[in-house]
Amino acid sequence: PPGPDIDAFLAQACKHAARHHEGAVADYIPVLAAADPEAFGLCVADVDGGLHEHGDTRVCFSIQSISKAFVYALLCDALGHERVLEVVGVNNTGLAFNSVIAIELNDGHPMNPMVNAGALATTALMAGDSADRLWANVRDGLSRFAGRALEVDDEVYRSEAATNQRNQAIARLLESYGRITRDPLEVVDVYTRQCALSVDARDLAVMGATLADGGVNPVTGERVVSAEVCRDTLAALAANGLYERSGEWLAEIGLPGKSGVAGGLVTVAPGKTGIGAYAPRLDPAGNSVRGQIATAYLSRALGLNIFASD
Ligand code: GLU
Repeated sequence: PPGPDIDAFLAQACKHAARHHEGAVADYIPVLAAADPEAFGLCVADVDGGLHEHGDTRVCFSIQSISKAFVYALLCDALGHERVLEVVGVNNTGLAFNSVIAIELNDGHPMNPMVNAGALATTALMAGDSADRLWANVRDGLSRFAGRALEVDDEVYRSEAATNQRNQAIARLLESYGRITRDPLEVVDVYTRQCALSVDARDLAVMGATLADGGVNPVTGERVVSAEVCRDTLAALAANGLYERSGEWLAEIGLPGKSGVAGGLVTVAPGKTGIGAYAPRLDPAGNSVRGQIATAYLSRALGLNIFASD
């Protein structure tokens, strides 16, 4: 649809979703509990570089789990998808994002890159022979997806670093299975920084639009990853992007997406658009409640469901 129509759909999507007050702001990372539960922003970024925004699209929050999708794409681009599949699979665990049981049930093989075990194994494989170089590669790669230099929210980083014993345990467990072969605590530290990168809904939309655009950032014009990598990443997102609710999401919205526990949600309509949403109240699986409702509205209004034939 033309731009003014998209703006009107965005406003309607937000109005519809803002009626919902259910869900709770994450508090297992202490500082996240301070988020404004009413903050709500929605942005659409087209593959031709057009941006449409409504609400709190310039409010910053930590990217959290959404980073996993983009680090996975960078790693597949660097090593090739087949090599990455040897270490991290693409099947849904059906369990919580930080489950240890999922690792044990699968002989120490992380089941997919969108849960913490798979994300830690993915970050561990990124290039960088020191922790500093590893971190620089991850940050620079994610910044190219966003089209600007992303910075860490230090308060979020410190809060999570002080309370991430579970991720440390997961990394050690993966080391014991030979799935992480560099210092596991360094990997957890880089992963924690990666999750603490500060973004807004507009950044998420541009990052999503880069995957929608076959790997070329539609705002900067820079190629970040190959079109094949986008295809493989979007398949992994379709299966796993909304934790154990991924199947329900796909059935309702019909698009690959990835959520994070700070309340961000990125959705990709291949060849068309990226949608970035921010609303911090989460469902029990850890997905933004209003983000899902607003994105579902847009998917229907704009005819984006990839399974629809009419
Ligand atoms: N940094 C968070 C963690 O590792 C990310 C979780 C998420 O957004 O799902 O626990």
